Order: sequence, then C-alpha cells, then structure tokens
Amino acid sequence: MRFCIHRGTQEIGGTCVEIESQGKRLVLDIGLPLDDNIDASTMPLHPVPGFDAPDPALLGVIISHPHQDHYGLAHRLPKETPFLIGKAAQAILEAADLFTPAGLRLSNVTHLENRKPIALGPFTITPFLVDHSAYDSYALLVEADGQRLFYSGDFRTHGRKARLVEELIANPPQDVDVLLMEGTTLGRPKAGGFPTEDDLVPDMIDLIEKTRGLTLVWASGQNIDRLVTLYKACRKTRRQLVIDAYTATVLQATDNPNLLQHDWTGVRVFLPRSQKFQVMKEKAFKTIDPFKPKRINDDKFPAEASQSVMLFRPSMIGDLDRMKGLEIGRLIVSVWGGYLQDGRNEKLLRWCESQGIAIDSCHTSGHAHQSDLIRLRECFTGSVAVPVHLQEVATATELFAPCKPLTDGQWFDMK
Ligand SMILES: [Zn+2]
Ligand SMILES: [Zn+2]
Repeated sequence: MRFCIHRGTQEIGGTCVEIESQGKRLVLDIGLPLDDNIDASTMPLHPVPGFDAPDPALLGVIISHPHQDHYGLAHRLPKETPFLIGKAAQAILEAADLFTPAGLRLSNVTHLENRKPIALGPFTITPFLVDHSAYDSYALLVEADGQRLFYSGDFRTHGRKARLVEELIANPPQDVDVLLMEGTTLGRPKAGGFPTEDDLVPDMIDLIEKTRGLTLVWASGQNIDRLVTLYKACRKTRRQLVIDAYTATVLQATDNPNLLQHDWTGVRVFLPRSQKFQVMKEKAFKTIDPFKPKRINDDKFPAEASQSVMLFRPSMIGDLDRMKGLEIGRLIVSVWGGYLQDGRNEKLLRWCESQGIAIDSCHTSGHAHQSDLIRLRECFTGSVAVPVHLQEVATATELFAPCKPLTDGQWFDMK
C-alpha cells in the first residue's frame, strides 16, 4: 500500500489523500482549501485518475465528515464516482443544498457506519465515529496488503461525543503502520485544555440573563453540539430559541429523535428572506411545511424579543433591520473569533455599534487540544505518524515522534 497527500501537509483544510494498492485506489476527503481567494468551481483538481473522467480503478472517495474543507470539491467529480460518507452527513449536505451553495447531492453512495468494516477491492475500511464540531464525523482504518493506515480525520475530546474518542484511545486498532494525524491546534497556547460544550452552558446563561431585549447567537446551523448547548441555556433562562428554517432542516436531516428538533418545547422557526426566496425559487414548500406550527413572523417578533434567543448569522442583518421596534441587546459570538477580525465582517461590527448591541464571545474549538492530540498519537505504538491538516509541521515532528512529515504530492510507500 502507498499513499500521497495531495493537499494538507502544511495547511489546515483542503485535505485530499490518495491511497493505492494492487493498481486500485481510494481517496480520503476531497476538501476545498480554507483560502478565500480559491474558487470551488474553477480550482484545478488534484492529479488523481478518476477526478476528471470516470476511472474504474478509483474504487471510492471517502468523505470523513461534512465540513467543506473535506468535501468542497466533491461536486466537481464525475457523477458516477462512488462516494462513502455517513448517512446523516449525506442527509445534512443534501438538506443544505436548498439553502446554500455549499450543499451537496451525491448519487452513488455507500454509508459509513461506526466500526462496521467495508470491503472494497483490496481494501478494508473501518470507520470510527468520533467527536468533532461536524455531526457524523469519522476516523478511518484502511487495510490492504497486510498493512494498516489509520486516518484521525478531524476530531476533539471535549464535545458531546467525547466518549467515542476515549474508547478509541483506550482500545485502539493494533499494529497500525502509519497514523495520518491531524494537527490543527498545534501552535495554539499549550497550557490548560479547551472548555467542554457543557462548560459553555453556564457562560451562555450568564450572558442571556444580563441581556435586555433580544439575544443573538452567531453559530453555525450545522454545529449541532453548539445548538444543544444553546437549547440547554434557553431552557434554564426560560427563553424561546428561534432557529432559521435552514437549521431546522439540518436538524431534521440527522434523523435522530433524541436530538434537538423544531417541534421541541421552546423552539420557534424563523424564515429569513433569503431562505424564503430559495424555497419559492425551488418550489420546495414541502420542506418548510412541517415548521408552520412553530413559525414566528416578523410582525410578532419584536414583542417576543426579550423572551427570545435567536440563532444568527451576519446574512440576517437585513431581516432584523426590517422589524419595526425590535430591541437587540447582545450578540454572542459562538464561532471561531478570527471571523470577527475578518474584513468581510466589518459591516457586522459597524451594525452592532450603531444599534448599541454588546458583543461577547462564548465558544470552544472543534478540534482536539494539543494534549489530546498527543494522547491519540501515543496509543498507536509502533506506528509512524504523518501529519496532515496543520500548519505547525516542526511542532508535529517533535510531538508526534516518530514522525515523517511529507510535502503535498509526495508518495509514501508503506512497504
Ligand atoms: Zn477540517
Ligand atoms: Zn472538520
């Protein structure tokens, strides 16, 4: 077995790894780089036979989880390309397709299931469900020719599925030759750890309680762990949680009745203009029909603002501006803080200032802390680590020893 990291050896995001055995090939992730200057529709594809035209030797393209830096070029591959992805992850990306250009529809799919091996030509692939800020995320064991490669994917140990990673660390696959290891947080402050999702609940409660008027929370509609955190804080503060139709659709796509849904007590659904436009354009009225009993309309919203917490994204500023008499007290930033420094969000900062909206942060990382990266690395004794999805290669070389950093496009023969 041999493999090549086409992108990701010195970069967070845009990951793409090709694996070859006996003339057959697999691809792990086909991500869009996290570089604003790159266009997903025109960026040159990696030189993988099967990417530009169908190739029977490409047995499958595995999407480890539904983050764009891992699937963002998938729509460029031939329609018949066989994909492997979690069932809920696929449903989430399909649900998103109506509302955002980042959605994805795949036609030839095998579902990844926790710890259920899949045989594909010379390869056996065993997915391991992990904790991450994307729902339905997997690490992957790939076996062929008597050799074993383990891909950590993106993971963490402080979210709502932490137990899964702890089980993996306590009882890892044995005799792994190569560990493809993510290193996103290397280079961030070493001391302490990251707060858990549950640690955020009391912080969120404090901020909501001291807010006059509406509390806005800027979080991803696909960060389901965070939506649960938010719901818990809303129940404690007796506020209703207002989510947009896109988020309600994503929650439905998880097909998990134990997980927050639009019909739960204290949840309301708001239809921003851009989403209404998309529903009308695509005649997707059936998609939003189930939300009707929970809909909150623009004219009623201002009167309920002080009893509400609203899931927010900067694209909703116009919707809020149109509501007469709406008092907004606070914006809680529950995404990576770097987005606020981003030039694209200057308008948001100016808007908050002009409206007298206080800005606070309440967030935790989607990725494992350095100390947890080391714990996962150390459980694969006898393996060589190859770092991926990172910037701090020198730190990885030291912390993940024995470690063999590669460069993009370089093949590594496991023989
Ligand atoms: Zn990633
Ligand atoms: Zn991710």
